[in-house]
Amino acid sequence: MKWYILFLSAFLTLYSCTSNTPEEISDPEEEFAWEIDRFADVRILRYQVPGFDRLTLDQKKLVYYLTQAGLAGRDIMYDMNYRHNLEIRKVLEAIILNYEGDKSVDAWQDFMTYAKRVWFASGIHHHYSMQKFKPGFKVAYFDSLCDAAGVSISDDAKKAIFDPSYDNKKVNLDPSRDLLLASAVNFYAPDVSAQEASDFYTQKSQHDGPEPVSHGLNSRLVKDTNGELIEEVYSLNGKYGDAIAQIISWLEKAVSVAENQPQAEALRLLIEYYKTGDLVTWDAYNVAWVKATEGDIDYINGFVEVYNDPLGFKGSYENIVEITDFEASARMQVLSENAQWFEDNSPIMEEHKKPNVIGVSYKVVNVAGESGDASPSTPIGVNLPNANWIRSKHGSKSVSLGNIINAYDKASGPGLTQEFAHDQEEIDRAKKYGEIADKLSTALHEVIGHASGQIEPGVGSPSETLKNYRSTLEEARADIIALYYILDPKIVELGLLPSIDAGKAEYDSFISNGLLKQLRRLSPGEDIEESHMRNRQLIAAWAYEKGKDDEVIVQVERDGKIYYDIRDYQKLRLIFGELLREIQRIKSQGDYDACRELVETYAVKVDPAVHQQVLDRTRVLDIPPYGGFVNPKLVPDKDQNDNITDIRITYPDSFIKQMLEYSEHYSFL
Ligand code: ZN
Repeated sequence: MKWYILFLSAFLTLYSCTSNTPEEISDPEEEFAWEIDRFADVRILRYQVPGFDRLTLDQKKLVYYLTQAGLAGRDIMYDMNYRHNLEIRKVLEAIILNYEGDKSVDAWQDFMTYAKRVWFASGIHHHYSMQKFKPGFKVAYFDSLCDAAGVSISDDAKKAIFDPSYDNKKVNLDPSRDLLLASAVNFYAPDVSAQEASDFYTQKSQHDGPEPVSHGLNSRLVKDTNGELIEEVYSLNGKYGDAIAQIISWLEKAVSVAENQPQAEALRLLIEYYKTGDLVTWDAYNVAWVKATEGDIDYINGFVEVYNDPLGFKGSYENIVEITDFEASARMQVLSENAQWFEDNSPIMEEHKKPNVIGVSYKVVNVAGESGDASPSTPIGVNLPNANWIRSKHGSKSVSLGNIINAYDKASGPGLTQEFAHDQEEIDRAKKYGEIADKLSTALHEVIGHASGQIEPGVGSPSETLKNYRSTLEEARADIIALYYILDPKIVELGLLPSIDAGKAEYDSFISNGLLKQLRRLSPGEDIEESHMRNRQLIAAWAYEKGKDDEVIVQVERDGKIYYDIRDYQKLRLIFGELLREIQRIKSQGDYDACRELVETYAVKVDPAVHQQVLDRTRVLDIPPYGGFVNPKLVPDKDQNDNITDIRITYPDSFIKQMLEYSEHYSFL
């Protein structure tokens, strides 16, 4: 699983942490341009890689090879998102490279915006709302561009661009439709229905033992000529084989400079898996990867997260290369070591507490390169592997992407906090503690939140019992555990926050986000669908209602604008504790009805007037709701025998250039 910056508690923080001040970076920090492009609802940022120059040459090579392996698979994600994406991207790029007509006209700007959106989303559907992009230019103009650039496009791909009713949603979770037939995502052939696919995989999992493979993770499900379902497996000699061959060759180089045996062993298993497509090998790799914790360099590579599949079987291709941030990780270690204390002191029912919480390994890392599902839109944290039996038997790795979070913070002005904060005290607190509180709440969410609690004997897994509400409930559970503990004196005692006031900063931003700020991500008339957004409104709205009589949180109206003022932080904490207990009970007992009631009552509906007000108030701030990144470029220096003598890191300043460069060098499908 992974987590994203969904809504920035935007404030400028003066960064004093020396471990993150990269003195070796050539641009002095004050001149470093964090934001380099804006289009549609997106801004493109850059991140720095502190610590890279302190690595040994072999470590730099390892980072380089792993990022190259990642980029080699970039095309796969386009194809997974939608079957016409690669063709469309290639046509758009050919036009950009070859068209020599008038580029000052609006239509050309609209065309470029469309192309950038396609790069950003690795396809023609919005990365977040899943809606297909509407081109701002006419078919005739597009035809004239194709003619002038000397490229042609298939009728189907053209229809995909221009016909708004055709494959209009990448992932459609509308329960009244067939989840697969209504979704454009390419993990299944267009004629495979949700029923057929789930029957297929139910059949496959019938004989599962206690350590089941992740059925369907690395394949596309199609029908053969007799109408029988078969899997096209992603492997060296199977689907995506040409890209996978490139990935393998870079991974083999990576093995040669691995930092230690366990790391090399894991990489070998990953190569083996790419060669065979064998899911048993994938699990063996994950076990080896979880155990390889000694190095300074780590990575995520493979077909991993299943969010893009409406049925949750198919993994999206992704790659993230990471360098440990040791100082920050040491702070998080403290949380892991105290996991049992948090479990024992939780307000949940005794029978729902784990007698032995398995320590979740949690690190803060700095990203050196990303690809596939993780780029340009990136998570800010990741917890893997996903297979439950591996997690409980061997543990998992949880990382927070420190330099990404830092870049977001640096690129954000104080506008949003100022607009939605009830008073100056809140603004001051956000300035002083917002960043550190935010980081700690993310750590609490992952390390303590997801690890906590147990299911009652005889109750099925949440995907069986809570069905479509399970992610909302699970994210709510992890968030509320973080909220409950961030105001605990224990946190200050452990040295994780300088003062209990820092926890209050998190309460301020959570409530105003859950009830107001995040609404700007929705178009007028939309319900909340995304699980994290649902969970945030659920918690904030529930707490507001429960504390209404005691004026725990008070709604204030000033100059026609709504604000929320928390009047009693300790009482709010108890309310969070109460909700935590109930949410854990729902999960532990698999209480679907209570779960649906909770989510549908608090998490889904939006007051249209409040929503419009939020849109009006944020529009003037002019901050795009989504952010993504160009990657730094790693440039090897070579001697006359072609041996790498050093690797330099540079920070590209053009999104267009990087996307074109990637397509030029890493187009293998
Ligand atoms: Zn989570």
